[in-house]
Amino acid sequence: MRIDHRLLTIAYRLTVFFLSVSAPAFAQAPIRYRLSFPEPEHHWMHVDVRFADVPAGALQIHMSRSSPGHYALYEFAKNVYDVRIDDGDGRPLTVEQPTTNEWDATGHSGTVHVQYRVFGNQVDGTFLAVDTTHAHINIPAALMWAKGFEARPARVTIDLPAQSNWKVATQLHPTADPHTFTAPNLEYLIDSPIEVSNFALRTFQLDQRAGSGARETFRIALHHGGSEREADRLAADVERIVREESAVFGELPAYEGGAYAFLADFLPYALRDGMEHRNSTTLTAFGALAASDERLDIISTVAHEFFHSWNVERIRPRSLEPFDLDDANISGELWLAEGFTTYYEALTLQRAGLASLAETADTLGLALDTVIRSPGRKHGSAVDMSRMAPFVEAAAWGDPTNFDNSYVSYYTWGCAIALGLDLSLRTRSDGKITLDHYMRALWQDYGRAPGPEGVVALPYTLQDLRGRLSDVSGDSAFANEFFDKYIEGRDVVDYEALLGKAGMLLRRGGQRRPWIGPLNLNFDRGAARIASPTIEDTPVYAAGLDEDDEVLSIDGQAIAAQGRVDEVLRRHVPGDKLRVAIRRRGLVRNLIVTTAEDPTLELVPAEVSRPLTAAERRLRDEWLSSKQ
Ligand SMILES: [Zn+2]
Repeated sequence: MRIDHRLLTIAYRLTVFFLSVSAPAFAQAPIRYRLSFPEPEHHWMHVDVRFADVPAGALQIHMSRSSPGHYALYEFAKNVYDVRIDDGDGRPLTVEQPTTNEWDATGHSGTVHVQYRVFGNQVDGTFLAVDTTHAHINIPAALMWAKGFEARPARVTIDLPAQSNWKVATQLHPTADPHTFTAPNLEYLIDSPIEVSNFALRTFQLDQRAGSGARETFRIALHHGGSEREADRLAADVERIVREESAVFGELPAYEGGAYAFLADFLPYALRDGMEHRNSTTLTAFGALAASDERLDIISTVAHEFFHSWNVERIRPRSLEPFDLDDANISGELWLAEGFTTYYEALTLQRAGLASLAETADTLGLALDTVIRSPGRKHGSAVDMSRMAPFVEAAAWGDPTNFDNSYVSYYTWGCAIALGLDLSLRTRSDGKITLDHYMRALWQDYGRAPGPEGVVALPYTLQDLRGRLSDVSGDSAFANEFFDKYIEGRDVVDYEALLGKAGMLLRRGGQRRPWIGPLNLNFDRGAARIASPTIEDTPVYAAGLDEDDEVLSIDGQAIAAQGRVDEVLRRHVPGDKLRVAIRRRGLVRNLIVTTAEDPTLELVPAEVSRPLTAAERRLRDEWLSSKQ
């Protein structure tokens, strides 16, 4: 009989929640994992797993299909091979594979021993990477687990390659053996990435909350080709970010084991990525810390991922708890989980003095331009866009999509909502109530609730978010209108008016510049082909141009490079009509594109054109100054 994983986990959670103060009546044997790297140059890891005290019947062994922090299917079983399953004494068991990611073993007498190879050569937050410099392990991409064993503890032992100077960094709990770690259950194990390399280590400690006496230890394991000085500087930046973000919530989370780990890989063969976990984050980048733009990107990622240690890891939507490792995960609340985190990423760098006002204005202005002008808003709300995550995040089907028109990123839209809500709360309360108060209320009402390790005891719903905004603002009519119009609806707040009160100008940057909309051309053997869908409500869309059309000429000029389009436009003023000759499905056609005025928005400090008033200055300072 198959048991629904979700039902099982919920039942387990209720039991443990009420019994967590006392030890379980009997201890179940931990699942023992041993990881080794016999040929790191060939990018595979050997995994040896022992399940003991296995009840009679089939043991259903799974490879995850998805990974917490992601929402799409990744089918991690694709990189697993040479699977051997025996009874622990070398006698092969009967194994059936009913689905792509499941092995059912029968005929055992209480022990099931699984061995396999898993390939991985991608350094990022999602996959497995094994090479001669390190093993960078995202657990869902690497370790099998068994149905019905979700509540069992796990022991993970890592065999380092001979003569390596590798060490281990992870949020898994240490043991007396420096290469063996434990997890209290599957949820915690799955959430615990492991970096095995000769990394530089920096640590610092902070009070969990002022006067509490409890200390949290922060470890930064930095695998990079840079200098010790760069490592020191990164550690100083990380500490500033940690302090600034904890000021929003009034305290740090009480990290299980009293420690939080930053697992950083800044290597030419890494992808640019960040992935949040409960007590750690992976940070990966292909550039070096020495490059100043790369450093800004890296510390932005630090600010983003660390904010997640409250928002999404503990202040967590019910739609993601428990996380389903066997399926895609759908959530209507990613505009808050990811979008508000994106807003606080920019705000934190500004408040901590790590970004200039001009840089912050650029970041927020780009988000506003995208959201305000996006045609995607006509097709769904921020809640609807959140629920698209399983499709947009791993879109590689070879089947084209119209996401350029039908979708707005919940990161960007959520960031714009957070900015609009922050300034709405500030302006209507004369600065007394802010988004920080709202985040703190969510933390106290949901995130802070104690539960078993790795489990969020009190996840929120969309309705809860609306209720808390009503409480924090003291005005349910305001809260309902904000949710109805700007979160569950498709409208945007009056950003120009709100930002103006903080002495920031949201304005058209390209006045009087002729514009036809984005035209993404791909040049191949002299032909200019439109390489992505044209955007609704732009002149090229209105004229009937779209993806795959070959552009023969614009205004009589052959188009041999993308820059030629701008050259043609420069000779015109908004309102001019351009003849565009195209070849489509073998036929030549002439279309008329009527140029418009460039509508691109930019956000700039008002003092570029006029002095600030005292009220504008005060609101801006309250908004952007350090909260420590
Ligand atoms: Zn995020």
